[in-house]
Amino acid sequence: MTVKKQVALHYSSVPTSQGDLLVPYEFHRSRKAKSVRLSIGWKSQVVITVPWRFSYEEGVQFLMTQGDWVKKHLDHTHRSETISEYYMKQPFWNAYNKKWRLQIQYQGKQARYRLDQKTSSVDIKLNRDKNLELQLMLVTRRFASQVLEERTKELAQYTNLIPSSIRIGNQATRWGSCSQNRTISLNWRLLLIPFHLQDHIILHELAHLQEMNHSRNFYKLLKKLDENSEVNNNEVKNIGSKIMRLGRV
Ligand SMILES: [Zn+2]
Repeated sequence: MTVKKQVALHYSSVPTSQGDLLVPYEFHRSRKAKSVRLSIGWKSQVVITVPWRFSYEEGVQFLMTQGDWVKKHLDHTHRSETISEYYMKQPFWNAYNKKWRLQIQYQGKQARYRLDQKTSSVDIKLNRDKNLELQLMLVTRRFASQVLEERTKELAQYTNLIPSSIRIGNQATRWGSCSQNRTISLNWRLLLIPFHLQDHIILHELAHLQEMNHSRNFYKLLKKLDENSEVNNNEVKNIGSKIMRLGRV
């Protein structure tokens, strides 16, 4: 569990071998960092991490020498996809240990969905006159709230790790978190990753009810709850970052 501070975004002109590039960037100080590091954040900004004793100026000076690296990596970071773009290619929700195919129609006044158990499909009805993206977000989040809460309760019973409450949110960078007052928060986008990985994330957060850190004991417990926790963790990392940016255009 960490507390996220709002980090200011700066812009600076950075020289590259093909001319100057206007680069959005932000700063972090880290006790672990041994030298200045650059990475690309989820908003397509450069993240400069400096060791604790370094000044911000030293971070910027380093950025100024890395124009070509930044250009190459920013080019590779595509803008976030909209939910509708994503559903055009992958019209599925993962819930109840199944893949549900989405069928989207314009019909009626209110955005709504209905599951068809026989065909494992979901009929989504949207209002033609309202914003497509917002309506898709609304129905997806509504369904996510229902199924993720149900699944968390099931896994809580099974593991005997009982949260005080469960929330489904629109987190920017995380799949889940567990607070000191035993609230488990989950990202609605979990509905878009495979069912076994949803379980992995939920079990990770449930394990925090017993071990409030990422200590060796925590990973031991997690491995007991989720035999394939390491493999699953890597799988989430591989497929996750793109889905995590979804709908933030
Ligand atoms: Zn954790």
